[in-house]
Amino acid sequence: MVKQKYHFVGRHTVVKKCYWTHRAMVDGRHCYKCKFYGIESHRDIQMSPSAFWCWNACMHCWRIRPQDLGVDMDETKMPFYDDPKILVDELIKAHRRLMSGYKGHPKVDPKLIEEALNPAHLTLSLTGEPTLYPLLSELIKEVHRRGMTTFLVTRGVRPDVLANMDEEPSQLYVSLEAWDKKSYDYFTRPLVPRAWELTLETLELMPSFTSPTVIRITLVKGFNDSDEALRGFAKLIEIAKPTYIEVKSYMWLGSSRYRLFKDNMAEHEYVKSVGFKLSEYTGYPLIGESRASRVILLSSIPEPIRLGKGCPLGLKTPEPDTIGEYDDYDPDTMP
Ligand code: SF4
Repeated sequence: MVKQKYHFVGRHTVVKKCYWTHRAMVDGRHCYKCKFYGIESHRDIQMSPSAFWCWNACMHCWRIRPQDLGVDMDETKMPFYDDPKILVDELIKAHRRLMSGYKGHPKVDPKLIEEALNPAHLTLSLTGEPTLYPLLSELIKEVHRRGMTTFLVTRGVRPDVLANMDEEPSQLYVSLEAWDKKSYDYFTRPLVPRAWELTLETLELMPSFTSPTVIRITLVKGFNDSDEALRGFAKLIEIAKPTYIEVKSYMWLGSSRYRLFKDNMAEHEYVKSVGFKLSEYTGYPLIGESRASRVILLSSIPEPIRLGKGCPLGLKTPEPDTIGEYDDYDPDTMP
């Protein structure tokens, strides 16, 4: 993980500078989270509190698994956990360290560096399943106490954790690639019993959240783009009643390259055509898209809730739409 430029904070937490953080600094291009929800890429800490632990072994995952390295470990249980307050302090320090490298960069506006040194948002995602960290709710509270917002991205296998959070994240993401038990067992490859049933419990819980919720579907061409799959997703969406649905193309990156093919990535126009079909089946209008990230947004509300200040220098257009654009950067961080 260190070779892949993950930075460890404590014993089980990682932070990594994402592709868009870099682009935001050098040429003012921010990711779709900025376009949709106002999250400033250069002030966003991308982290995971459970670097090695997860209850799934999804085919599209970037994560290096113990089996890839011939290491014998239980991926389903974190054997230790660090204090959330110390973690948040150290995560902010790590982000500042990463961003201070831009000082003196000829393409970077010093005002942006100042802003970047004061992170405004924390995304719990990256790698591993964050709900396996037993002090998740306390961690989120610590981040909010510092005036920052949070996105929590989960595969939804821990409805017990989500149901008992003292503090909700600013936005909750539940990732779905499968539409029924058979497709779940095939693609999402659970490491624990009843994982599909637990996912359904999470979907049932989602309407009780007061913060905005998202069903995030990673579109894997040739796997979950059929009419049967889309009708299956529509049924799940009826249960979860999310505020938003994001459909985003799978990207052929990291360890997933050993399990899937480049052809499983969808071009943006294809993602959009799938989005329109899903819109028809769910009744959610398509209200946004980001060509560069190959993602579309369906929404139950006319305007997405802006949780950040938005892009300071505005979104540059036209957005890049070729993989070649990404060649100058570590592929494992491409969102
Ligand atoms: S749930 Fe996330 S971290 Fe776990 S295997 Fe699937 S994609 Fe990877």
